[in-house]
Amino acid sequence: MSAHRLSKVLDATLPLDTARLLRVPPPAEQRRRDRHFLELALKHSELSRDPETRVGAIIVGPAGEVRSMGYNRFPEGIDESAERLGVRELKLSLMVHAELAAITNAARVGIPLQGCTLYFAQTDDSGLVWGGVPCTRCTEHILMAGIAEVISYPTKRANSKWHQDWAFARELFRESGLAHREIEFIPAAEHARDPSMAR
Ligand SMILES: [Zn+2]
Repeated sequence: MSAHRLSKVLDATLPLDTARLLRVPPPAEQRRRDRHFLELALKHSELSRDPETRVGAIIVGPAGEVRSMGYNRFPEGIDESAERLGVRELKLSLMVHAELAAITNAARVGIPLQGCTLYFAQTDDSGLVWGGVPCTRCTEHILMAGIAEVISYPTKRANSKWHQDWAFARELFRESGLAHREIEFIPAAEHARDPSMAR
């Protein structure tokens, strides 16, 4: 086959192959995946013993494969006693955020996170579910791990001591080009009425 004919064959197959190699799912499939992984993050947050805020993070590769998971917790080997969890300043100084826990869980077994998507969800005893951008520190860790995108539920509207920190994190997202998308939270019971979740 001449070089000219070969290039014509390659041109003809390029759109299909490019889509396959880039693993870009159709928008409806992407929406289903996003909701699924956010729900998985929310479910994973149940493992947290934080009495105030429970956070779950799931890191997913380009083919939709789960690379790592994490929830907010004390470091491995540090006693998560009710006494420590009950003293706010001590608790905050010991708590590893879910996003960093997911990153370090991957590091522990040598899983690369370059180009991955991080999903995270937060909840508390009131049943409120929220997301927004991660805190400034987690945003720094996410950038250092090479993660390309963060997907979450919408920002917490109620008062939070974190609002100022989130504003700075948003600036870091803008400056670095780290992508962020928010997906509306739909309780599992309402999925049946949501046509975008239909198979
Ligand atoms: Zn954080």
